[in-house]
Amino acid sequence: MPPESSGRAVIVGASLAGARTAQALRRGGWTGPITMIGAEPHPPYDRPPLSKGILLGRADRAGIALLSAEQCAGLGIELRLGRPAVGLDPVARHVALGDGTRVGYDALVVATGSAPRVLPETVADGPRTGVHVLRTLDDALALRESLSAGARVVVVGGGFIGAEIASSCRALDLDVSIVEADRVLMGRGLGTRLGAAAAVRHSAHGVRVLLGRRVARLHGQDRLTAVELDDGTELPADVAVVGIGSRPATGWLEGAGLTLDDGVVCDETLAAAGVEDVYAVGDVARWRARRYGTTLRTEHWTGAGEQAAAVAATLCGTRTEYDPVPYVWSDQFGAKLQIFGRVRPADEVVVLDGDPESDRFIAVAGGEGRLQGVVALNAVKAAIRLRRSLSEGASWPSVIDDLRS
Ligand code: ADP
Repeated sequence: MPPESSGRAVIVGASLAGARTAQALRRGGWTGPITMIGAEPHPPYDRPPLSKGILLGRADRAGIALLSAEQCAGLGIELRLGRPAVGLDPVARHVALGDGTRVGYDALVVATGSAPRVLPETVADGPRTGVHVLRTLDDALALRESLSAGARVVVVGGGFIGAEIASSCRALDLDVSIVEADRVLMGRGLGTRLGAAAAVRHSAHGVRVLLGRRVARLHGQDRLTAVELDDGTELPADVAVVGIGSRPATGWLEGAGLTLDDGVVCDETLAAAGVEDVYAVGDVARWRARRYGTTLRTEHWTGAGEQAAAVAATLCGTRTEYDPVPYVWSDQFGAKLQIFGRVRPADEVVVLDGDPESDRFIAVAGGEGRLQGVVALNAVKAAIRLRRSLSEGASWPSVIDDLRS
């Protein structure tokens, strides 16, 4: 039984998933106090623009606000910012904050997101000035500051974040390289074939793409001067941006009794395993996805909002399972890349239209007898049509037959 909706709801994490949970709780009829705790000093803001609009100077702090302090006050949501949660006692039902205070709860929602992976110490132990990560608004503002005319930029990691940063750098007419350990770009989302095409597309847009290589050393005294790769290549650089993936922010939950395994392990309703009245949403949640018969963790904007809605509905009295077709998008070189479902390394990929090395295509991925994913670049309408087949669990042979007929 979920707690009464007149109880105290505490949300740890004041980003998209946390903010949407707070809003959905109020909308769903939660009448009790709601407290949202955030490590950053800023009220909730939207992260997708950090690697695009903010870097390009087309968006600012006010433009990316998700929920202002005034809106929180209006909704009766208490904001406690600039204070990370450092511990959880699920028996006494309280969260410990970094400043020594404790916050009691009847329902707890963990929305602490993820933190950037860092380079090995041997590499990171170099110059500090000019070396960036991109996760927070402050990170993005600092990076923007360093992207002055003529700056030579090396992006370490060719996932979505790295690829978007490289695209923004080209829009700023900067010299930019991507160093990616894998043989393809964005391999986690696109798989091998489409990831290889993405590398060609980035090259065509003027990005120096260096695949199958890692960073060995950062050169410079205080300020970065060059990035040395593991094959000895030295790239002169004023700015390095490290985007080598992220890890769910669960350190503060160690030993609390939750099941942690690359995220907070949850059931189909995003209720955390091992404890009562604790839920997880956003990047930190690893939930049992009925559709796939396995657990999933995603770092997707759309999913964060959907998870928040599902948890709020459950807490407000209507048990709601979260069983989506995952969706993620990315904007690079003025084109919208969309991935519905998933593309796994062993899946078969068929390009239906356009050319994955160009600025428009649509492709499907299939495996285990089912349509698994739809990938579209500048082909929004076609992708939406195929999305239906995906959510219906269409068989791969039938999708292929339909396309051939
Ligand atoms: P994000 O979505 O944050 O961009 P991903 O995990 O999709 O994260 O991408 C991170 C990329 O960084 C992966 O393609 C991975 O192969 C790459 N990577 C990881 N470690 C290194 C490294 N030391 N040097 C270069 N690339 C790396």
